[in-house]
Amino acid sequence: MEKKTILVVEDEVVIAMDLQATLIELGYGVPEIVTSGEAAIQTALALRPDLILMDIHLNESLDGIDAATEITKTLDIPIIYLTAYADEETLKRASLTTPFGYILKPFEARELSANIEIAIYKHQLDQTIKENRRWLLAVLNSISEGIAASDTNGLIKFINPVAEALTGWSQAEAVGRSPAEVFHFIDEVTRKLIDNPLLKSLEEDRVVSRQELVLLRARMGTETPVVDSSAPIYNDRGRAEGAVMVVRDSTEQRRMEAHLAHIALHDDLTQLPNRTLFLDRLQQAIDRHQRSPAVSFVVMLLDLDRFKTINDTLGHLLGDQLLIDVAQRLQTCLRAMDTVARIGGDEFAILLDDVTDVTMSCRTAERILDELKKPFTMSDRELVVTASIGIVMSSIPYEEPADLLRNADIAMYRVKARGRGDYELFDTVMHIQAREMMEREHDLRYAITHNELQVHYQPIVSLATHEVTSLEALVRWQKPSGTMVHPDQFIHLAEEIGIITTIDQWVLRQACLQMQTWQQRGLGNWVWAEGRLVQVNRPIPPLTMSINVNLSSKHFAQKNLVDTVAGILQDTGLSGHYLKLEITESVLIENAKEATAIIKRLKQLNVQICLDDFGTGYSSFSYLHQFPIDIVKIDRSFVQDIDTNPEQLEIVRAMIGLCHTLGMAVTAEGIETSQQLDILQEMGCEYGQGYLFSRAVDGASLT
Ligand code: C2E
Ligand code: CA
Ligand code: CA
Repeated sequence: MEKKTILVVEDEVVIAMDLQATLIELGYGVPEIVTSGEAAIQTALALRPDLILMDIHLNESLDGIDAATEITKTLDIPIIYLTAYADEETLKRASLTTPFGYILKPFEARELSANIEIAIYKHQLDQTIKENRRWLLAVLNSISEGIAASDTNGLIKFINPVAEALTGWSQAEAVGRSPAEVFHFIDEVTRKLIDNPLLKSLEEDRVVSRQELVLLRARMGTETPVVDSSAPIYNDRGRAEGAVMVVRDSTEQRRMEAHLAHIALHDDLTQLPNRTLFLDRLQQAIDRHQRSPAVSFVVMLLDLDRFKTINDTLGHLLGDQLLIDVAQRLQTCLRAMDTVARIGGDEFAILLDDVTDVTMSCRTAERILDELKKPFTMSDRELVVTASIGIVMSSIPYEEPADLLRNADIAMYRVKARGRGDYELFDTVMHIQAREMMEREHDLRYAITHNELQVHYQPIVSLATHEVTSLEALVRWQKPSGTMVHPDQFIHLAEEIGIITTIDQWVLRQACLQMQTWQQRGLGNWVWAEGRLVQVNRPIPPLTMSINVNLSSKHFAQKNLVDTVAGILQDTGLSGHYLKLEITESVLIENAKEATAIIKRLKQLNVQICLDDFGTGYSSFSYLHQFPIDIVKIDRSFVQDIDTNPEQLEIVRAMIGLCHTLGMAVTAEGIETSQQLDILQEMGCEYGQGYLFSRAVDGASLT
């Protein structure tokens, strides 16, 4: 270990020399002996000894205490006073310089050494404490939370700068005061003062923390939302000797939380409430209405007319801008208490609270429609939009918020069907219809699970040979009451409620099974002769007949369609050669790329594809060549007039010609008269189907 150096300040040279000799003997370094206060100050500065032995009584103008005072101002060196005698006055003066010891002259070497060692040790300890304190302060001052500490009596010992900023009290002012005086915590809801957590944790000897709805009111009255936590500070013996409190400013956190809540309940584009929030407000209105039926409300559903077209032609950016502008205009038409929400692409829902009479809601709807009719300026063009509004009053019976919205939707669709740009009140008639709709939905679901569906078969005849070449499977719904429901009356509903796939697959399986049975057991081939279908007993099997099955466009869009078809063929054992699938134009138009791929894969199963109802939909000939279609079925509406309307006849001729150019065969649907048959035959149409040959009949009758 390095030798400790000691500066000796002693004006009696003999004593000084003696002291030096003793110290050296004790193992200390004594670089210098000085005899005056001034010299002591200078030498201390120059040499920076580890300790100074200072005689109090010096002969010069400065005595030892003066010199020590001066030295400790700039240097942190422990000083031990040497004195032969000391009066009260002198000792008092000396103690102000916080000396590390007094040694009375004369002294013994042991006494000297012990004093020096204690002083050096104490000094080192002081240093460490000071350093720790510096660190602690630096940490507390740089921390982003407000911190306050109190002593056992609950008086503030310390607050950091963040706590100063939060409370408006400076540390100097706060120290020694009660935390209750400096930290005013108030309950955000009740606005009452809350027990001071610092004192509470001290009193109850436990951690006290709060997360919610607390405000800290500063001296100047400003309030900050905070979360706080206080804990007792324990000493080595486990006793609380104070407490510390941490206070965090939660403004930002609250802002974030509020922001997230806002996002969850609002539409990003228009900043209007979204469907969730709307349904919530609607539920509240329903609850209110149930408590006091006099408080009525109105729900409106508004849909922009032809928004999709606008969006497609103007581009999404302008489409979005239009929605924002519409949202703003809607708000101007409504009172602050009303809710307008965006609940779908171009669908807005409005809740008018406390509206009792019908005329008022109609007037509001008119106001909205008028407001929207004013042109919107989009980049440099003017755009006029119309909307359709469905209105429901709370007086109509309903159960859930969703029921109300659906009723508004029904009324709105009435407007659309009528020609748009208007409003319609949902009334009891519609309510009854909606009820019926729901019942039919229920009945249809029941029908599927309780085998009320049947497949009937309608022959398709080769116009060249008059042989029946195929049978089209057509679904029927035989109600327990005996009535036969035709698909036109339930296919659309099935598509809407998402069970068309189930129906189609059932029909497909049924038809394939039936066909395979006929293939194996034999079903006579049929020929159209002398105005009726007759069975010819040629050697059978094999049968040349195939089966046509309809696929809804909803079904076609399903991912696993090809697998389903393959699976059913596999299960029933029917070869794909005997299956034709009928699809409609919409399938091809809506997703041309995918449709082509699906058709190609179906053809790998040897299944043929018929384009059903040709001419009724988009009837664009230009796209036809893109698709690998085998047979085109010309819709009944074209066929039915060919014997009376020459223009219609020419259209059909052109259609057939086009299909042939594209290498596709043609089936004419709905042939009812022999004149029609003759004309079609003459035009080279390959196949025909219609009541002339046969209506659809059930499988058993055919067998
Ligand atoms: P579609 O595919 O055009 O079927 C032909 C419809 O025309 C059948 O009506 C048939 O009975 C009728 N029809 C046939 N010949 C004549 C005729 O000479 N004159 C008249 N006026 N009508 C004739 P149906 O069976 O009522 O089927 C109606 C529609 O329902 C079908 O039209 C088809 O689009 C759909 N459909 C039938 N079964 C199914 C099925 O299993 N799945 C799917 N997705 N749709 C089906
Ligand atoms: Ca068909
Ligand atoms: Ca058809």
